[in-house]
Amino acid sequence: MRRLRYTFAAACCELVGHRAGPLVWHVLLVAVVGSAIAQAQELRWPLALTPTLSSTFGETRSTAFHNGIDLKTWGKTGYPVHAAADGWVERARTSPWGFGRVIYVRLNDGRIVVYAHLDSFYDPVQKRIFREQRRLGQYSVQLWFEKEEYPVRRGEVIGATGQTGAGPPHLHFELRDGGNAPMNPLLHAFEVADTESPTLRRLLVVPRGAGSLADGGHDPVVVPLRWHAQSQRFRAVRDVRVFGRVGIGVESFDTADAADNPLAPLSHSLIIGGQEVFSSRLQRVSFSSGHQVALDRWRIGNLVFFTLFQRPGNRLPFYSSDGNAGWLLAGGEPMPPGEHPIEVVAKDVAGNESRAQMTLLVDASFAEAMAAASPSNEPAPELEVAAHERFAVITVRGTAPTVRVSDQEIHLHPQTDRHAGLVSYAHFGDQPGVQTADVVVHFGPERPDTTVRLTLQTIRPGEARTLLYDAGRMALHVDAGSAYEETVPQVTSVEPVASPGLRATELGFIIEPATVSFDKWARISFPVPDGMDAEHLGVYVSDRDGGWVFIGNDLDGTSGPAEAPDAKGPTSNRVSARIRAFGHFALLEDRAPPTISMLAPRSQTWLDERRPLLRARVVDRGSGIGKEEDLAIELNGRPLIHIYDPEVDLVEARPDQPLADGEYVWTVRASDQAGNQAEASSVFGLR
Ligand SMILES: [Zn+2]
Repeated sequence: MRRLRYTFAAACCELVGHRAGPLVWHVLLVAVVGSAIAQAQELRWPLALTPTLSSTFGETRSTAFHNGIDLKTWGKTGYPVHAAADGWVERARTSPWGFGRVIYVRLNDGRIVVYAHLDSFYDPVQKRIFREQRRLGQYSVQLWFEKEEYPVRRGEVIGATGQTGAGPPHLHFELRDGGNAPMNPLLHAFEVADTESPTLRRLLVVPRGAGSLADGGHDPVVVPLRWHAQSQRFRAVRDVRVFGRVGIGVESFDTADAADNPLAPLSHSLIIGGQEVFSSRLQRVSFSSGHQVALDRWRIGNLVFFTLFQRPGNRLPFYSSDGNAGWLLAGGEPMPPGEHPIEVVAKDVAGNESRAQMTLLVDASFAEAMAAASPSNEPAPELEVAAHERFAVITVRGTAPTVRVSDQEIHLHPQTDRHAGLVSYAHFGDQPGVQTADVVVHFGPERPDTTVRLTLQTIRPGEARTLLYDAGRMALHVDAGSAYEETVPQVTSVEPVASPGLRATELGFIIEPATVSFDKWARISFPVPDGMDAEHLGVYVSDRDGGWVFIGNDLDGTSGPAEAPDAKGPTSNRVSARIRAFGHFALLEDRAPPTISMLAPRSQTWLDERRPLLRARVVDRGSGIGKEEDLAIELNGRPLIHIYDPEVDLVEARPDQPLADGEYVWTVRASDQAGNQAEASSVFGLR
């Protein structure tokens, strides 16, 4: 009956488009819409605990948005998880990573509810999962079910909370629409007590393009905010001088009543002259654009800002704008030279809001903006080269600085005195066939000249290309769908530094600008150095703490964009990895196998337990443990299904049948992502 109604509701939407239909259709439409609304059940909070969140929808994760809400379980596991509304179990899955044990319930109204990091599923599903694990001989399985198999009623217990997959004990809860797009659950009948207003900590001013400046430079400017009790607002500790196109960002967080951990506010908006010019409201994302979190957030070191502007290619569905995508045009209409107060408003779901104010001082000309005194007290380096999408800025400080190009491939202009330094711009245009240009920097008579090499190859939206750098010692492969905007990557060779478990090769490169990310994956590759074994080599990226993180070791032709027409030089026998953003990359060698320790039961022990838990600690420095198959536990030569917890480096297994008296050898095997293997055994007895 319900299903029939739903079908009618879907059909009637088509009728809306045919307004010329006879009156009888109109009557039917009203009746059907009425029943569709009545059918949507009020959603039940999934836990019998006071609703408290450790994360809200849309928070920043490394490669995506947080697609749900995290419910606090106060360091404990095992709380019953209740179905939000009537429906049926559509899918269940287990994995050592990510969601861990997760169950997907399709509600009768078509929406999907996801419950993740579970300790266990309810009995009927748990049995099916066990059966599938035994069938495949592995812990990671995924099952899809038919509608009739596991119907659930609103409030029915479908599992228990846990800490499987990522993170400490909590319940990750998602609400998705019928098309599988995650929605903010707090906008759909869920409530969490919240009388606290968001806190705004810092504002960000981002100049865009060579003709734009913030505080006289092209780098984003960060301004701390202070609470101003009299005006009941946060206020910037200083003004920012701007010219050209600038965007605003904000670092902020919310807290709710039951706990003081930081949460993402629901929305941010930018107000100028009493008019809202841009707003961002975290109500819905889709999986296909989750990686665009890199366009919605601006990172500087460990600071993360919500942006109030849209960069090219940003398709995220939660903005509204006055038509300029949030970019402010400083120096002309509507922001002529002078003082312009701006206001940023952050709101939470409960409607609590906070405001921050800052004054933008708009200069009359680029030159005037450039001459502004730098507010920075840091001693300026003698030479700075800053890469931007379509230009580079070379700043030289010396007694008689000059900058010239060794050949005529690029033009340097304008040259401006700034803060006792010389600023030169290299504007990148089309340089067919020319890959680099050397810029000779002269500081004065007392110092030798320095040469800066600029790279001139361009990546563009819609063009698949393979760009070779440093005579092919690094290659960047972009797909037609990779680049968001035209960019001239600046590549600097930096010999990598070894770290525990990793040996350096000579191949390390910094690719800038650091703010560039990709829509479709790009690929970076390195040649296998002479005398080295490709199997142990891998591509690594430097993380925020300066450590190396393994990102791949695909060999020739395993994937990557099609052969590019302009590729020259060595393209075979290479190690590659997919990349989603520029950064600091290196080819490193991992010859250190994992270490296996703390085997329990230990050797020469006697047990009473007929189904003893076999557990060991497996740690790998370097490339790390990448997949479940990299680990194995055997009992008297027979493989057992093991469970791995990468967060605590533990692997464990339990025999599914009680063991008879006797002596048992159990063995742990581990290999890392570079193929290094380790093995450890212990012998125990049962009597
Ligand atoms: Zn979560």
